[in-house]
Amino acid sequence: MPYTLEPSYDDNPRLKELVERLRTYLTDELIPYERERGITAESKLDRTTLEHVWKRSAELGFYGISLPPELGGQGLHFTELCALKEELTASGAALSHSVLGDMGGPLRVGAIVKYATEQQMRRYLMPVIRGERACCFSITEQDAGSDVRRMSTTATPDGDTYVLNGHKVFSSAAPFADFAVVVARMAGSEEAYSAFLVDLDSPGCRVLEGEVPMSGQQMEGDLVFEDCRVPADNLLGEIGHGLRIGIGRITLNRLLHCPSLIGAARRAWDLSVAYSKSRVAFGQPLLALQAVQHKLADMATDLYAARSMVMATAARLDRGENIAVEANMCKLFTSEACFRVADQAVQIHGKTGLTRGHEVEQVFRTLRMFRIVTGTTEIHKNAIAKALV
Ligand SMILES: Cc1cc2nc3c(=O)[nH]c(=O)nc-3n(C[C@H](O)[C@H](O)[C@H](O)COP(=O)(O)OP(=O)(O)OC[C@H]3O[C@@H](n4cnc5c(N)ncnc54)[C@H](O)[C@@H]3O)c2cc1C
Repeated sequence: MPYTLEPSYDDNPRLKELVERLRTYLTDELIPYERERGITAESKLDRTTLEHVWKRSAELGFYGISLPPELGGQGLHFTELCALKEELTASGAALSHSVLGDMGGPLRVGAIVKYATEQQMRRYLMPVIRGERACCFSITEQDAGSDVRRMSTTATPDGDTYVLNGHKVFSSAAPFADFAVVVARMAGSEEAYSAFLVDLDSPGCRVLEGEVPMSGQQMEGDLVFEDCRVPADNLLGEIGHGLRIGIGRITLNRLLHCPSLIGAARRAWDLSVAYSKSRVAFGQPLLALQAVQHKLADMATDLYAARSMVMATAARLDRGENIAVEANMCKLFTSEACFRVADQAVQIHGKTGLTRGHEVEQVFRTLRMFRIVTGTTEIHKNAIAKALV
């Protein structure tokens, strides 16, 4: 088969069937649902809209599909999960983040499942997996981003509770979440951090509207804790293991963000090919110009390289290997490469690509963020060099 940028997965019948079913759901149901309601990537989303997507995706078997069968999933391999994630963003659907449960759902819970007690599973994580509750993950503070150890949110043991005080920023999904996984410093300690499951309607906890990032998506929130009491049973994992839990989750997320970026860049490529065929300049379509063909060739090559390394790393993860270094390499390369693709797409679209609200312009702003979100380019380089040199 000749190479195409839209993979067909002929070598894996289960994945091929899933991808085809996902494409049908996105094109025939989700995108028309968004159009009817005027939902765009920058819309403020309400819980009813999101729950509709969670429930429908669960009915179709997509919500939490990567979880093991005993938790209601299909135990997908990471390579298969990456393939589905790429399809979601490649579709251009504004609500694609809610189909597998990235935003507030089972994928946000992710690896923390393995630290949960039976009671925490029943009360917090299973309802998320069923699409009944939503969660966010809160580690970042205004003065503690890359340097998370600077965090000033504290947890003070008091009887059979912990008392939280502090202010978390940029928690994705917080505006519609029911609870948060919060990492806090143990009071009186310089180096011990713990993770807690915190109900967002607890006395002493407030969810504030977050800053709107350049993508225009309105999905971030701040969490403010003022003497907020959390039952001791809500400690996740052991005392002092909070950063290990948080950073372990971030390592996996660094890899799992990559296919979403590749899908968004593939969307920019599709739009660029279509535009360069239809736009006429100097008596011929743009596509006839070798300068435009070269841009498309560079874009396709970046996409192929990014996808190849992400899939190779996901395959290593499926074999149970440690991917701490490669996850950083993948996120570093993919975020830079996909941003280059988006930049070329804007260039090919000329003024159309600069027009506020055009899809290419939206993809460009979204992809720009991922050279910072879930680890900046510089932090990835630090981690790679530290591990290898
Ligand atoms: C849309 C969005 C969603 C987010 N979602 C979440 C979420 O759900 N939960 C959550 O907890 N956080 C979330 N974040 C926070 C995000 O992970 C941080 O923004 C990121 O970790 C970087 O931290 P910072 O922005 O404070 O930058 P800083 O750490 O202040 O970095 C500023 C600059 O300094 C550089 N720098 C810093 N330290 C070093 C160093 N040692 N070596 C070299 N260069 C360095 C950085 O690379 C960067 O260029 C989100 C952010 C955004 C924008």
